[in-house]
Order: sequence, then C-alpha cells, then structure tokens
Amino acid sequence: MKAEIITVGTEILTGQIVNTNAQFLSEKMAELGIDVYFQTAVGDNKERLLSVIDIATRRSDLVVLCGGLGPTEDDLTKQTLASYLGRELVLDRQASQKLDDFFASREQFVRTPNNERQAQLIQGSIPLPNKTGLAVGGMITVADVTYVVLPGPPGELKPMVNTELVPLLSNKHAKLYSKVLRFFDIGESQLATLIADFIDKQVDPTIAPYAKTGEVTLRLSTKAQNKEEADKKLLQLEEELLATKTPEGKLLRNFLYGYGEENSLPQVVFELLKKNNLTITAAESLTAGLFQASLADFSGASQIFKGGFVTYSLEDKAQMLSISLDGLKEHGVVSAYTAEQMASQARCLMGTDIAIGLTGVAGPNSLENQLVGTVYIGLATKNKVETQKVLIGHRSRADVRYIATLHAFNMVRKTLLKAENLL
Ligand code: ATP
Repeated sequence: MKAEIITVGTEILTGQIVNTNAQFLSEKMAELGIDVYFQTAVGDNKERLLSVIDIATRRSDLVVLCGGLGPTEDDLTKQTLASYLGRELVLDRQASQKLDDFFASREQFVRTPNNERQAQLIQGSIPLPNKTGLAVGGMITVADVTYVVLPGPPGELKPMVNTELVPLLSNKHAKLYSKVLRFFDIGESQLATLIADFIDKQVDPTIAPYAKTGEVTLRLSTKAQNKEEADKKLLQLEEELLATKTPEGKLLRNFLYGYGEENSLPQVVFELLKKNNLTITAAESLTAGLFQASLADFSGASQIFKGGFVTYSLEDKAQMLSISLDGLKEHGVVSAYTAEQMASQARCLMGTDIAIGLTGVAGPNSLENQLVGTVYIGLATKNKVETQKVLIGHRSRADVRYIATLHAFNMVRKTLLKAENLL
C-alpha cells in the first residue's frame, strides 16, 4: 500500500510550526508496514489543496490529510476533499452531541453556526471520534483510494490515530487466509442445509460451499494480521462446523476426508497406504481399471501397487479370478457376493494387504433388474472381507464409474483409519 501524508496549514509553510504531525504519522505507517512515498505540506488555500489532493489521488492508495478541521473559514480540509470527491458534508451525530454537551457545560463560550463544521463528515465516511477535542476525523474509500482526515493539534491527532485509525488500517492491511475442507459421501445441498445457520450468520470467517463430481468442499476464509491469528479463527469455525449433526445423528466430521485445494481422495488414500507400508490391488468390472489408474497417478505408486485385474465379463471374472461360474450366476454379477469374491480372490492372487472388488451398473441401461448407479464394493484384508452397496443414481456412465472409484477409495480410507492392526 502506497501512502501519502498531506499536512495542511500556512503556519507550516511560513516556518511558524514544525511539522511534527508528519513525522508522527510516518512513524505510525512504518509500524503498520505501510509505505509512505510522499509528504506534502500545503497552505490554507482551496485551489492549492485541491491540486495536491488530485496529485496524491493519482499516485497513492492511502492519502492522510491533517490540519484544517477547525471552525473557522480558513479551516477547509473536509470541505475541499468533499468537493473533490463530489460528496456532501453531513453532521456526525456523536460529534454533534459532543458539541451540544461542550457548550451546555460552558456558559462563557458562545456557540456559533461555524462550530457545526467541526462535527461534519464527508458522506460515507467512517467517523474517527475525537477524545480530546471537538473536530471529528474521518476515513473514506472512493475508487480504491482511502482518504483520512485528522485534526491539526497533536494533542488531538495522536490519540485519534492510536485508538481509532491504527485499528482500522490494521484491518484494512490484513491478509486473506483460506482453508479448504473436503467432504465425501454428502451432497452439496445436504451439507448447505446442515450448516445453513453458519452460512446465514457468516461475517468473518466466511464460508463458501463448492460441489465437484462426487464431493463437496467448503472454503473458509478470514482476514488476519498473520497466519497464527488466521489459523486460530479458522480452526474454531471448523470445529463448530464439524460438530454439526445430520438428521440421522451423524457428525459432519465423519464426512471430512481431507484438506486443501489439491488433496484428492485417491491422493489421501495413496499417502495413507505409503505411510503404513501397505500394498493394494483391485479387481474391477464397471470401472474397468479406473481405480488402479488413479493409484498410478501418483509418483511412487509401485511401492503400494504391483498390478491387478480388469474382469468385465462374467466368464473373465470366473476365469481370471478363479471364482465359481455357478456361484456368480446364482448371485448375479451385480451383487455383494460378486464384489466380495472379486476382492478376496484378487488379494489372494496378488498377495497384497488390501484388495478392492468393484461391480455395478454404469448405465444407461439397467442390468439384472438393478438400477443404473447401483454399485457393490468389496474390500478384503487378511482378516476379513466386507461389502458395501452404493446407490449413485441415474448419472452419466462416466460419473457413475468415477464416483464408484471414489467410494472404493473412501472405504479403504475408513478401513485404514479404523484399525491400525487389522491388516
Ligand atoms: P483547530 O481546531 O485548532 O482549528 P485544525 O484541525 O484546524 O485545528 P490547524 O488549524 O491546522 O488544525 O492547526 C491547529 C494547531 O495545531 C496549529 O496552530 C499547530 O499548533 C498545530 N498543528 C497543526 N498542524 C501541525 C503539524 N503538521 N505539526 C505540528 N503541529 C501542528
């Protein structure tokens, strides 16, 4: 952010006063990490003030003006800036009340219409209350340039800068930090309904749901001075979100599988397998190798994956995996039995720690009276074989096959997290 300080006052130009305000402001800006590129001093003259405001507007993001907020005709900073920005001056209620209180308690002072000038603000400004004087300061952003007006007397300017301006500029200066939470096995609208209260009330951090094929992400974003502060705010919101329950009583936490923009479900599983030194194989029917191809996407895949099977037809399932043809015919190709047999036979034949069996209806036509999107997934370890039935619904062939592989990955992920010594 490029800042410029404009001190207003003929006394500065004539050398009657030393411009200590400019020094104080430059020091504060440096503390905030804001670069001050220019300091300008200008007399109490509308034309010349207009020209320096115009120059500053063209070369700076933040223009800090000080001096000239008083009640007399030569105090014209707010009036000049207002006319430059094409805005009205309006009465600030708090500053006006302060004027009322001031004159009510001091009978010796006569209030003149000019005193109102001290309580005026450029329309749309954030007021900067004056704790030690009567002239209100203000901050306004127009077309990406922020203008600040401050009183001249250092006894008013310094407390106003320290207590009012610095917090505002720190906020403005804050960086945006984000965290992406990745969920699987929950739909976007289901998730949005679940956290509707949080979304309705969001201010900072903000929550943005985003749906991809087969998964949903939530991007939490916050403005903070540093990463530690952001991490704290984001973690607190994350914990609150994850403690939300579905109507069935399941915690949202159960659907979270990972973090980050790039960290896909296959990647999370790949890392888990690698970390635990485990090997995996698969026998795939409707996905025809998609699960195994996903594993091969990651460098170092050979450490966990040696090979596997694509067994599309009934006969090939029987022949390549040594499964009884009669058994397959009896239970049907799209069945828990078939998925289970495919997984356990693949594991035995390849000698791996884990094996997946995938069979189902990719569509567009139904098969064996099973609806499009019906998928059975078998998962075999040395101790047990389990199966899961998934109803993906009537989607494109590509989507059904892709989402089926994600379910298989999620099954592996859950198994690995659940039982450290199961394998
Ligand atoms: P007032 O309410 O007194 O009219 P103001 O906001 O209009 O305040 P000025 O009239 O410009 O400010 O200045 C008032 C006094 O504040 C000056 O006489 C001087 O003592 C001090 N002052 C103003 N500008 C500066 C400066 N840049 N550095 C140090 N002191 C300053």
